[in-house]
Amino acid sequence: MDIIGLFAAAMAAGAATIAGAHAMVPWSQVYGENFNGIEDGAKVLALTYDDGPNDPWTMKLLEVLAKHEVSATFFMVGEYVQERPEIARAVFQAGHAIGNHGFSHRNLIFANDTELRQELEDTSKAIEDATGKPPFLFRPPFGARRPGTFKVVRQLRMFPVMWRVTCYDWSAKSHEKILKHARRQIVGGEIVLLHDGGHHRMGEDRSHTVKATDELIREYKEKGYRFTTVPEMMKMCPEVRMPDGLPRAT
Ligand SMILES: [Zn+2]
Repeated sequence: MDIIGLFAAAMAAGAATIAGAHAMVPWSQVYGENFNGIEDGAKVLALTYDDGPNDPWTMKLLEVLAKHEVSATFFMVGEYVQERPEIARAVFQAGHAIGNHGFSHRNLIFANDTELRQELEDTSKAIEDATGKPPFLFRPPFGARRPGTFKVVRQLRMFPVMWRVTCYDWSAKSHEKILKHARRQIVGGEIVLLHDGGHHRMGEDRSHTVKATDELIREYKEKGYRFTTVPEMMKMCPEVRMPDGLPRAT
């Protein structure tokens, strides 16, 4: 189920109060502070890719990012990292930032604190085993969280990251459709949500996303934008309050 589907399901389940709706609004701060970008109009964008590692699309994406000399941020699914640690390692070695996206990509609205901790810890361990470095960024699957979700994330010394530009690439029929969504929402300063993988299975076709990335970078560089990782963008934002002792960048 995609984000819209989940949102509809949450409404149907009677969660459609104002507070309930915040469970699925990416940039809402109601269920805990999260980072989703810097001030509007800044000539900088942070591209993020969820649901990998994914063979062969993650590696194809790395080629495109390298061609443009752009660093991005990858929110990885723990079980896929365990399955293909060498892809996670290649992402890390290419200088991109890696975040935790849960182990099984289950909707964490329905996970109790113990299950939530397990999802996060197992994923961090898989990423550390593959790259030598534990992640300090976390993005919930489907962007879904309940009151208390981000509290647990912070207790585990991780920082919640959401986004402000949704490209709907998980269901796009062409790279042009993805670009259209991006152009409509970008005003500058945003974290952009894209996918190098798919949470249903390894091998999900992300050719449209790879092509859209190539075009998006070319187009926005021409407009004077630069691209950065989420940790680098966080450094530009003095209001970001990091939990005690947490490194500000990876
Ligand atoms: Zn996801």
